[in-house]
Amino acid sequence: MNIHFHGAAQTVTGSQHLLEINGHKLLLECGLFQGRRSETYERNRHFHFDPKDLDAVILSHAHIDHSGNLPHIVKDGYEGPIYATKATAHLVNLMLMDSGHIHESDAAYVNKKRARRGQPPIEPLYTQVDAAHVAQYIVGVPYDEQFEVIPGVTAHFVDAGHILGSAAVALDIQEGGRSYRLWFSGDIGRRDMPLLRDPVLPSNTDYLLMECTYGDKAHRDPQLAFDEFRKVVTETTARGGKVIIPAFAVGRTQELVYYLHQMVDSGDTPRVPVFVDSPLAVNASDIFRAHPEVFDEETREFMRNDKHNAALGFEMLTYTRSVEESKAINLIEGPAVIISASGMAETGRILHHLRNNIENPLNTILIVSWQAPHTLGRRLAERQEQVKIFGEVYHRRARVETIGGLSAHAGQSMLIEYAAAVKDQVKKVFLVHGETRGAQPLMEKLKDSGISEVYFPEPHSLFEV
Ligand SMILES: [Zn+2]
Ligand SMILES: [Zn+2]
Repeated sequence: MNIHFHGAAQTVTGSQHLLEINGHKLLLECGLFQGRRSETYERNRHFHFDPKDLDAVILSHAHIDHSGNLPHIVKDGYEGPIYATKATAHLVNLMLMDSGHIHESDAAYVNKKRARRGQPPIEPLYTQVDAAHVAQYIVGVPYDEQFEVIPGVTAHFVDAGHILGSAAVALDIQEGGRSYRLWFSGDIGRRDMPLLRDPVLPSNTDYLLMECTYGDKAHRDPQLAFDEFRKVVTETTARGGKVIIPAFAVGRTQELVYYLHQMVDSGDTPRVPVFVDSPLAVNASDIFRAHPEVFDEETREFMRNDKHNAALGFEMLTYTRSVEESKAINLIEGPAVIISASGMAETGRILHHLRNNIENPLNTILIVSWQAPHTLGRRLAERQEQVKIFGEVYHRRARVETIGGLSAHAGQSMLIEYAAAVKDQVKKVFLVHGETRGAQPLMEKLKDSGISEVYFPEPHSLFEV
C-alpha cells in the first residue's frame, strides 16, 4: 500500500489522503484548504492526482475541511462512490450547498470591488450547482456495517464522537498474500460531550492514521463550560437583557440548545424565548432528529423522561428559517437568547442581531468558540470598544463573555489514549490534521508510551507500507 499525504499534512485543513492498494486508488477525505483567498484558490483548484483515476472515496464527517473539495473531484470527472455514515451522507449535502453559497457571495463581493477598479471578475471557487452534483455519488452506510470499498479492501465506520455522523474508519486489507488493518481516525471527539456518543478507540490495527489538532493541549471539563453558560444566561436575562451567541450551525448550536433545554426544564433559568436563527442550523437540527442512532445513552435517557420527547425542542424555542421570521426577532422586547451563525460573526444573520443589540448595556455577547484573527468574532472577544458591522461603526456597550472548553476535538490525553489502545500491535502511526506545535509534543509522548514509529508526514510525501 502506498499512502500519499496530500492534505491536512502538517496543517489542519484540506484533509486528503490517497491510498494505492492492489492497483486501485482510494481517497480518504476531500477537504477544502481554508485560509486567505489568494493562497487557497489554486491549492483547492488543482489536485496532485487525477480525480478520474480514483476508484472510491471515504468521508469521515461533514466538516468542510474534510468534505469541502468534493465538488471539484466531481467537476473534474470523478463518478464513483463516496462512502460516509448515514447521518454524514445526509448532512454533507447541506454543508456543501452552504459552502457553495458562501463562495458565490464571496466572489460577488470581490467582483463588485474589481469592477470599480476595471479588473475582470473572478470565478467563485464553486457554486451551489457544483455542490448539488455531489449528492448522487454519496453512499450512506450504517455504523459497524462491513462494506467492500475496492477489491481486497473492506471497511466499517465506528463512532468518532466529534460531530453529528462523525466516524473513524477501519480498513481491512488483503494485498499480495498479506492481510492487515489501517485505521483512520477522522477527527477525534471527546468523552462526556453533550448529545454524542464517546469516541470508539482503535483496535487490532497495524497502521494508524490519526489527527493531532490539540496534541499539545489539555481541555477543560465541559461541565465547567456548562456552568458558566448557565450563569451568563441567567444573569443577563434576569436584568432584562438579551444573550447574543455567534455559533457554528452544526454542532455547537445543537449543544447549546440541549443545554438550554435542560436549564429551562430544571427551572435554573427564567423561561425566556430562545431563537435559533440560521437556516443551516435548523436543517442540521432536523438531521439530528432524523438520526437518533447518533445520540448517547444520556441523551436517550433525557428524551425518554422529557415531556417534549425531544432533545432539541421545547416550548420556549423557535427555529427560524425565513428572512421575515428572522427580522421579526428584532421586534421582540425584553430578555431572550439568540443563537445564530456564522460562528466567527463574519457573515450571516448574526451580523443583524449584533448590530441591533451591541449598543445596549443590558445585553451580553457570548463567545463560545475559538475566533480566528481578523474576524469580527475575534474583535468582540477582545472586547474592543468600537467595531464595524456592515461597514458602520458601532459603540459596544453590551458586555462580552467568553466560554472555553467546548472544543469538539480530543485534547492531548485522549489522543495519547487513542494511540496507546493499539500500541502492542501498531507498526506505524502517522499524525495528520495538526501543526508542528501539536504534533511534536504528542510524538514525544507516544514514543514514551512505547510506540517507536511515529511520523508527521510532509505535504505530498509518500509512504510505502
Ligand atoms: Zn471536524
Ligand atoms: Zn477537521
